[in-house]
Amino acid sequence: MGAGRSTAESEERSDLPDEAQRRSRFLISASAALSESLDYERTLQRVAELSVPDMADWCTVTVVDELGEARRLAVVHADPAKRELAAEYKRKFPPTEHRNGEMANVLKGGAAALTVHVTDEDLVRAAQTDDHLRIMRGLGCTSCVMVPMVVRGEIMGVISLMRGEGREPYRKTDVETAGELAHRAALAIDNARLYREARRREGTMRFFAEASTLLSSSLDHVSICERLAHLVVPSFADWCGVELAEQGELRSIAIAHVDSGKVEAARQMRLRYPPDPASARGPHAVLRTGRPELISEVTEAMALRGARNEEHLGFIRDLGLRSLLIVPLMAGGRPIGVLNLVWAESKRRYGTEDLETMRELGRRAGLAVENARLYNEARAAVKLRDDFLSIASHELKTPLTSLRLKVDGILRIAAKPEKAPADLAKLTARVQGVDKQVGRLTELVDALLDVSRAAAGQLQLRLEDVDLVAAARSIAERFKDDLASAGCSLSVVVTGQVGRHEGTQAEIHGRWDRLRLDEVITNFLSNAIKYGAGKPIQIRLSATETAATLEIEDHGIGISPDDQQRLFERFARVVSPEHYGGFGLGLWIVKLLVEAMGGKVSVRSSVGAGSVFSAELPREGRA
Ligand code: ADP
Repeated sequence: MGAGRSTAESEERSDLPDEAQRRSRFLISASAALSESLDYERTLQRVAELSVPDMADWCTVTVVDELGEARRLAVVHADPAKRELAAEYKRKFPPTEHRNGEMANVLKGGAAALTVHVTDEDLVRAAQTDDHLRIMRGLGCTSCVMVPMVVRGEIMGVISLMRGEGREPYRKTDVETAGELAHRAALAIDNARLYREARRREGTMRFFAEASTLLSSSLDHVSICERLAHLVVPSFADWCGVELAEQGELRSIAIAHVDSGKVEAARQMRLRYPPDPASARGPHAVLRTGRPELISEVTEAMALRGARNEEHLGFIRDLGLRSLLIVPLMAGGRPIGVLNLVWAESKRRYGTEDLETMRELGRRAGLAVENARLYNEARAAVKLRDDFLSIASHELKTPLTSLRLKVDGILRIAAKPEKAPADLAKLTARVQGVDKQVGRLTELVDALLDVSRAAAGQLQLRLEDVDLVAAARSIAERFKDDLASAGCSLSVVVTGQVGRHEGTQAEIHGRWDRLRLDEVITNFLSNAIKYGAGKPIQIRLSATETAATLEIEDHGIGISPDDQQRLFERFARVVSPEHYGGFGLGLWIVKLLVEAMGGKVSVRSSVGAGSVFSAELPREGRA
C-alpha cells in the first residue's frame, strides 16, 4: 500500500468522527509500514512505535518463531524517559521465562483479551519477581488489551497495548482496532516467512546445483573433500571439517574456516584432541550409526563438560563453537565418513532444515568420494595387471627363446642321416638344456597358478611331519650348480632346541606342508643367489619348543628401508627387470604360505651390505 493511497483513504473518511478518523489513520500508516519491507522483525518494531502514544502509552510485540518459541520483538514506551525501562523489560523478561498468564491464554486460545482496569493488586499478582513488579509499575499499566496475530488459523504472536495513569481506559472499539492491526501484522509476518522460505528453497536448489557440478569435477577423493569443505563455508558453516573412514580410523581430510587464520587452530585441536572412537556422540557415533547429530546450541556447560583439559577448553573458546551439526557421508547405503559443521563467529544456529539440507549433501558427496576412490582403485589394479602381464610375458619368453634354440639344434642333429657318437653326446647335452628350460617354465607357470589360487583364497595345505633341516639341506644340494655359477658359497647352521638321532645330524621337526615349505626356502635361497653379488650365503635354522626359525643371509645389493616395506606385496619388484628377471611374486607367495601355516615373515637389510630374510613357523602348524 503506497503513500498516495493512504492520503486518498483519509480524505474519503474526512466525514467520520474524530476518534474513528484517528484510528483509521493509525491503521493506514501501520499497514504502510508493514508493507514497506519483508523484514518483519524491523517492521513490527516500527508498528509498535506507531502505536504510541495514540493507541497506547506502551506496547509490546511477541512473535512465535519458526521453532515454536515465543520471542519478544519490541517493547516501546511513548515517554522518552521510560525507554531505558522498556529496554530493561525486553532484556530481562523474555516471554519464554516470564510468562504473563494473560498473554499465555491469548497465545493458546487465539482470542483477544481486554482488561479495562488493571489495579496495582493485578500487577502484584502478575509479577513474578520484585524486579518484574518494579519495572511494570515504572512502565505504568492501568488498562490493557492483548490481541493475537492469527493467519490461516495459526497464532503467530501477540500485540499488547498498555495505558497508564491519567489515560482513558481501553474500550471495545479499541479491541477492534487492535484486532485489525494484529490481523494486518499477521499477514505481513506470514508473507515475509513464505517469501523467506521460497528464497531459502531457491538458495538450496542453487546450492545443490553448484554442489553437483563441483563434486563431479574431480576424480581425486582428497580434492573432492577439499571442495566440499569450501562449498559449505560460509553459507552453511563458519567452519567445516571433512573426515573419511580409512583402515578403521576416521581421518581428517579437509578443513575450511571463514577466518583462514583459524584453519590451523582447528587442525591442531583435531590433532591434539581427536574425538573418542568409543563415544556415544560425535563423529565416530555418526559414522557407526549413520545418524546425524545436531547440537543447536553449544552451551558453556557443554564446553566445560566436553573439554579434556585447560588447553582443550582454550581451543574450544578460541574457535567460538556455538552450534554443531554432524552428518554422515553415505555411499551405497553405508556411512563412509562425516561432515562436521560449526557455526561460530556468525552466531547462527543449526535447525532441522539445515540438517535435512546437509544430510542430502552428505549423500551426494559420499557418492562422489566413493566413486573417485573406486575409480582410482580400479585404475591402479589395471595398471598393476598390465605391469604384471608385461613382466610375465618377458619372463616366460626368456626360457622359451632358449628352448627354441635347443630344439633347433636337436632337429639339426636329427636331420643328419649318419649319426656319429659325438652327435649323440651333443644331442644328450641339448636335451638336458631343453629339460632345464622346461623346468624353469614349469616353475614360472606354477608360480602363476599359485597366485591365482591364493588370490581366490584356495591355498590348501597338507600338513605332515617335516624335518626343516633335512629340507633345507636337500634344497642346498639342488642349488649346487646355481651357487657355483653365481660364485656364492653356502653354509647351513643349526642351533636351539633341536632333536638328534643316534649322534647324527640335528633335526627340527614340525607339522608343515612339505612342498610349500620347500617353496619358501627355495624362494629365499634363489633370491639370495640372484641378488647376493657372488658373496657367501648362510642358511640359519633354529628352534624353540614351539617355533622354528629359518633365516637366509646374503651380502649382496641389499634393500632400502622404503622398499623393505612393500617387498612382500604382490608384484613388488624393486630392481629393474632388465637387470634381474622375476615376477615380483615370490615373496608375496612366501608370505601367504608362511601365514597360512600360522607363521610370519620379515626382512632386515641395508643397501650394499646384504639382507636377512626370515620365516618363523609354529611347530604345530595350522591346518
Ligand atoms: P622376483 O621374482 O622379482 O625376485 P620376489 O617377490 O622374490 O620377486 O622379490 C621381490 C623383489 O625383492 C625383487 O624384485 C628384488 O628387488 C627384491 N629382493 C628379494 N630378495 C632380495 C635379496 N636377497 N636382496 C636384495 N633384493 C631382494
